[in-house]
Formats: sequence, structure tokens, C-alpha cells
Amino acid sequence: MELIKTDIAIVGAGGAGLRTAIAVAESNPDLKVALISKVYPMRSHTCAAEGGAAGVIKSDDSLDLHFNDTVGGGDWLTDQDVVEYFVNEAPKELLQLEHWGCPWSREPNGSVGVRPFGGMKIKRTWFAADKSGFHILHTLFQTSLKYPSIERFDEFFSIDLLMADGRCQGVVAMEMKSGRLFRFQAKAVVLCSGGAGRMFPFSTNGAIKTGDGTAMAYRAGVPTKDMEFVQYHPTGLLATGILLTEGCRGEGGVLRNKDGYRYLQDYGMGPETPLGEPVLKTMELGPRDRLSQAFWHEQQKGNTIPTPWGDSTHLDMTHLGEKHIDERLPLVRDLSITYAGVDPVKEPVPIRPVVHYMMGGIHTNIDAETPVPGLFAVGECACASLNGANRLGSNSLTELLVFGKRAATNAVEFARNRNSEANESELQEQADKVQTKVRELVQRSGGAESIAGLRSEMTKSLEEGAGIYRTEETLQKTCNTIADLRKRYAGIELHDKSNVFNTDLFQALELENMLALAQTVAEGALARKESRGSHQRLDYEARDDEQYLKHTLAYYQGDEAPRIDYHDVVITKSKPGVRDYSGGAK
Ligand SMILES: Cc1cc2nc3c(=O)[nH]c(=O)nc-3n(C[C@H](O)[C@H](O)[C@H](O)COP(=O)(O)OP(=O)(O)OC[C@H]3O[C@@H](n4cnc5c(N)ncnc54)[C@H](O)[C@@H]3O)c2cc1C
Repeated sequence: MELIKTDIAIVGAGGAGLRTAIAVAESNPDLKVALISKVYPMRSHTCAAEGGAAGVIKSDDSLDLHFNDTVGGGDWLTDQDVVEYFVNEAPKELLQLEHWGCPWSREPNGSVGVRPFGGMKIKRTWFAADKSGFHILHTLFQTSLKYPSIERFDEFFSIDLLMADGRCQGVVAMEMKSGRLFRFQAKAVVLCSGGAGRMFPFSTNGAIKTGDGTAMAYRAGVPTKDMEFVQYHPTGLLATGILLTEGCRGEGGVLRNKDGYRYLQDYGMGPETPLGEPVLKTMELGPRDRLSQAFWHEQQKGNTIPTPWGDSTHLDMTHLGEKHIDERLPLVRDLSITYAGVDPVKEPVPIRPVVHYMMGGIHTNIDAETPVPGLFAVGECACASLNGANRLGSNSLTELLVFGKRAATNAVEFARNRNSEANESELQEQADKVQTKVRELVQRSGGAESIAGLRSEMTKSLEEGAGIYRTEETLQKTCNTIADLRKRYAGIELHDKSNVFNTDLFQALELENMLALAQTVAEGALARKESRGSHQRLDYEARDDEQYLKHTLAYYQGDEAPRIDYHDVVITKSKPGVRDYSGGAK
């Protein structure tokens, strides 16, 4: 196995990974950075983000308003010190991107344009048409190329972390084109490996979002946090689950049921406004959890439209006009025509709620540190508790930047104080174990289980048991199914035994990761006997601050279900209150 010695290893080259790498290089150009990614950086999921990134910039807005929207939107499960730091740093980071060349869309007077976004009661989302993620990622990627200390390892699949002397000292990864294993030895490791929405059957997430880094940390003893909070986006394109950005509603699109009725007015989201009026104060820009729940209720009432791909409602943008759609939502038009055969200029587009984002992830503090020394995590794989029980759209692109920079500062500091030599033999021993595990997986024969079969049972079970609404019974069933699937995983057999781009192998490793995380979702949800944000229990409909105003931690216990524990929420200035979207602020 090849050894690569570096100072800071970063797993993931999406928005979080690239921002972290740049900040390390800027703070100390002598530190070597290994940037490891299972795809070429521009193929990371950040590229798919459409709507934009939130940060206070306009004179009618304030840091307090952004703070309040985020804390209330997260149903008070956010850590308020984290939110405060975030809203303060957000505008600086977005301006920094501007200076690096990000082509933000403009107001007619040339200032940065902002659009409304769900749960944000004022316009504060910076955007670059509806390709914001592409432009942000491109800006970061091209900036990262300036720094010779950043060495990229594209198409390297990370498998497990290396721990010695009670701290994280590296990672084992496979070069995908050759099947060769590499041991990256590092003074600090930063996980930036993205979310895990692919655990569910209908998802806006790219196929690579399988929670690998989160599962690696979990196996290494770091608890996951708040995994039961899974965000459904209310407007996924029917059949494929491709996202139609919240920007569609920000620009004035409305939701209609089978009778053409704007149903959100029946769910406490304010009165109907005339078409063409700014919808900022009303229902279409309620938060994602509430809108997805409203769909479920319409379904129960028989107000949705049955289709071969499941029930749907409509996103109607026909009143916006061709010019406006082409200027502000060109990608949405393209996607709707290509994948649903519907031109939003002429017809309403069929949509349904789809899994979009994991609020939970690797347990970190405000410094992006995990409880394991030397191991940091940033972005969607992490849970710094900015998003609480429900993330507000457009906060996470900014989160990558704000906490990427902070993680870098702390990882650099950690690396500076780490002069002692790594415990080579212990690290080698662990790396050898990974090698044995991979060999065994590839060579195993006679197994009756298929990767695709187990994966589809897992996704179905999560959707049925731990979807938009949950009960004790459905959750218990899902917990049992996932536990069983984890056992059956031992019976899979790979059909590809080769070393060259063995996608069978990578899918097997991804499945193992997803199964472990699926268990934290279902077990965490079963234990949380209340309804909060995206976690809605039909058998416990109320929020219960007395017992559950706390974060769920899930600890890995090998083949067993995780041990569930809890952790205090940081409350500074906003006492838990009622989430009110009936009228909104100005
Ligand atoms: C369709 C869509 C639209 C969105 N729109 C918005 C929006 O408008 N505004 C907003 O704020 N948020 C939006 N989000 C959410 C936001 O884009 C993501 O949460 C964020 O981009 C995640 O960034 P990341 O850097 O954490 O992870 P990613 O961009 O997903 O990158 C993960 C990286 O980890 C690497 N990786 C993963 N596993 C391994 C492994 N085993 N070995 C090596 N490398 C690995 C991958 O190669 C990749 O480079 C959207 C999400 C989706 C899916």
C-alpha cells in the first residue's frame, strides 16, 4: 500500500472541501493539503444547487432578522451561538466569492440582487440565475488552482479513517482507476463528504451522496447528531425527483392541487395573494417541512393527482411569462421540458416532495471539531447545529463557506501543535485491516444477495417508515428491516472482480455506509417522541420542549443498533416560541 504524507487531508472537494483547502493554503502556504474526492471536484453535488446563498446585504435587512428566521425555521433545535457566528460571517464570505469572480445576478442599478426563499421572511438570497451552485463551485475550484500546496487526488474513494494515540491521523482511500490502496497520513483530517439523501428512493441528490464520510466518522467512534431530521423539498420533478428550485416560488410560482386550488392557504400559511404580487408574505414561501406536510394532507384528502410515478400536485409558473422565466429560471425550464415534457411557460409542472437534505450529520461544535482530536467536519456531512430541525433553503451554501474557513483555521492550529511522529505501526495495522476487508468483499463468492436488491429494500423501508410522517409502528418496522438488511449485507457478492473502476465495489461500500446511517435515522426518530420541524410523529403531534429540546446523538455499536444519547441545545437569546408563517414579516 502506498504511503502519502501530508499535513491536512480533506475528504471531499465540493463547496466545503474547496473552501477549506483554500483557507488552509491562505493561512499557511507551507502546509501540504491532500484534497481527496471520489469525483472530479466540479461533479460534486454543490454544482447542482440552483437557488442561491443567504447573507444579509440590503439596508432593509439585519443580522438579527437572519438569526431569527434561522432559529425559528429550525424549530429551536439550532445552537444559537453557531447561528449568530454564521449570520455575522455570511455577508463577508459571499463578498469574498464576488472578489474571486462569482457572477452574482444584479439589480438594475448594478448592486447584488437578492431573491426571496422559503422561511426567510425578507429577501436575502444571493443568486446567479438558477445555477448558483455551479458558479459558486466553479469560483472556488478556479481559486483553489492558484495554490501549489493543494494537491488533488481526484477519483480516490475514501474507505476508512486511521486512528492512533486517541486522535485521527489519516485515511485509507482507493484510486478508482487502478484499485490501488493509499494510506494518507495527516496531522489533521477534515471531512467534507456531503449528505446522504440517497438512502431514500426519491431524492434530489446526486448518486454520489451516500454519506460515506459520516459513516466513516461514525464507525471511528464519533456520534452522529440529529439524523432523524430529513428534509423533504416540496417541489421535486415527478418521476425523477430532480429539484425545481425554491427560486421558482421566490419568483412567484404557486402550488395547486388537482382542482387548480392553491391549497397552502388551508394549512396556516397565510391568505392567498393575487398572482404576480410578491409572495414573500404568504404561503408558497413557507418553510419546506410545512409545505411537504401540506402535500401529505392533500394526498390523504384525495386532492392530489395519481400518476404512474406516485401522486403529484402542480407548480404553476405560467403567469410569470417567458421573458422572466428565461432570465431567472432558465435551468428550471430546461429540466421541466427535458425530464417531464412540460414547458413551464405554457403549463403547470407536476411535482412531489422529495428527500433533499440531511439536517443531521457528524457531531461537531462551533469550531467544526468532532469529539475525536484531529478530526473536523464541514458542510452537509456535518451537524454543527446551524439548521436544527429544518434547514432554511439557501443557508447551506453559505454554511460551507463560513464553516469551511473556520475548520481550516482550527485544523491549521491543531496541525501546528502536532510535532510528534505518528504511530506508524498502529496506522499500518489499521490500513492492512481495510485492505483485507476490501479483498474479502471482492473475492467473496456464492452470496445470494444483490447490492441493488438490498438498496431498494432500504430506500423503500425508509420512505414508508421514516418519511414525511412517522409513527411508532412504522418506525419500529423500519428499524427491524434495516437491522435485517445489515445482516443480509454479509451475503452480497460482487460480479466485478477486477481492479479497474470497480463500480460494483464502490456501490457495495456505499451501501454499507448508507445502511449504518439509515439505522441512525430510524432509531433516532423512534426515540424522539414529539413532532418538531421535519420530524413529524402522528402519535406525538406536539413539540415537547421539556423532554426533547435536545440533540440526538447516535453511537456506533458494531452489528447492533446504535446507542442513543442526548446533548444540550445552546440557547442564547431566542427562547423557544411558536413558528408562525401566517403573515410573515415585511
Ligand atoms: C439539487 C440541489 C439543489 C440545492 N440548492 C441549494 C441552494 O440553492 N442553496 C443552498 O444553500 N443549498 C442548496 N442545496 C444544498 C447544498 O447544495 C448542499 O448541502 C451542499 O452543496 C453540500 O456541499 P458539500 O461540500 O458539503 O458536499 P458536496 O458538494 O456533496 O461534495 C461532497 C464531496 O465529497 C466527496 N466524497 C463523498 N464521499 C467520498 C468518498 N468516499 N471518498 C472520497 N470523496 C468522497 C465527493 O466526491 C464530493 O467532492 C441543494 C442541494 C441539492 C441536492
